[in-house]
Amino acid sequence: MQMTELAKAVIAGDRRALARAITRVESARADHRLEAVELVANARAAGRQALRIGLSGTPGVGKSTFIEAFGMMLVAQGLRVAVLAVDPSSARSGGSILGDKTRMERLSREPAAFIRPSPSQAQMGGVARRTREAVALCEAAGFDVVLVETVGVGQSETVVAEICDLFILLLAPAGGDELQGVKRGIMEMADMILVNKVDGDLKPAAMRTRADYAGALHLLRRRPQDPEGFPKAVCVSAVENDGLAEAWADMQALADWRRAQGHWDRRRAHQARHWFGEEVRQGLLSVLDREPAKGSMAALGARVEAGEVSPEAAAIQMLTLLGRG
Ligand code: GDP
Repeated sequence: MQMTELAKAVIAGDRRALARAITRVESARADHRLEAVELVANARAAGRQALRIGLSGTPGVGKSTFIEAFGMMLVAQGLRVAVLAVDPSSARSGGSILGDKTRMERLSREPAAFIRPSPSQAQMGGVARRTREAVALCEAAGFDVVLVETVGVGQSETVVAEICDLFILLLAPAGGDELQGVKRGIMEMADMILVNKVDGDLKPAAMRTRADYAGALHLLRRRPQDPEGFPKAVCVSAVENDGLAEAWADMQALADWRRAQGHWDRRRAHQARHWFGEEVRQGLLSVLDREPAKGSMAALGARVEAGEVSPEAAAIQMLTLLGRG
């Protein structure tokens, strides 16, 4: 099928076309890349925007339980929901944690929901691009909300925050010292913290956890793009469907405020610029893995190893070679 035809089918809401289009942007083949870029450009031309929500949390915190309950609630409100996973660890473990077929069973059966597990891809640059393009395709397909899920491993939160409109951190009730375990950088990115599993015996502990996180959030960041009361920490129970409607109302309030203030468009514009720079950087790095640069790297590397030239001088020679093209 021609790429433009595929883009049209995606825009028409054909789910199989969407799945195929995402497979195409995931392809590592160089000859697929230009097609994929054209496909995404055609899809973007539809001019549709979804609310992109990034959701991060360590394994076991309740992400899939939350997304299923939250997604079902949105679907019941007549919204269309896409769920994408960013799981860079899957390449190492050999199988995708987030791609587990048993996750989100109810939501996956909903016609208004689309769930795409994470592909096995080792390199963060590849994961970032694939996710960004998959988000664009889901938007073109008319989804109202795109949830991008990630396990809390290093770089992936930064990537997700740079793709999404809102970044949500899911945490479990914990003692005061476990609060320290959340990396400062991640707290700074969070628009909202949802303390999950606030049910049963965990309730009293959760109330304290929430207050601690709320305090920490306010110390760490109060930005012009946050309205009064944000960033916010709230309690939810994914299992008991508790607090989900309130959390959704908060997310919408934040999104609406940012739209009205112009922060929404500015954020997306900055993100586009950021990804342009990243693509160029990745492209430059990949030049090193191809001939003739690869051969020059090997030859100069051998000379450095033999002590014939210093690492710094060799690097200057290499960069000069690259600069000449
Ligand atoms: P993920 O690894 O972050 O996707 O976590 P899961 O959604 O698989 O949940 C991990 C475990 O926590 C499961 O046994 C869930 O049943 C449980 N869990 C998830 N949400 C809640 C909740 O709101 N309350 C309680 N009590 N347990 C929960």
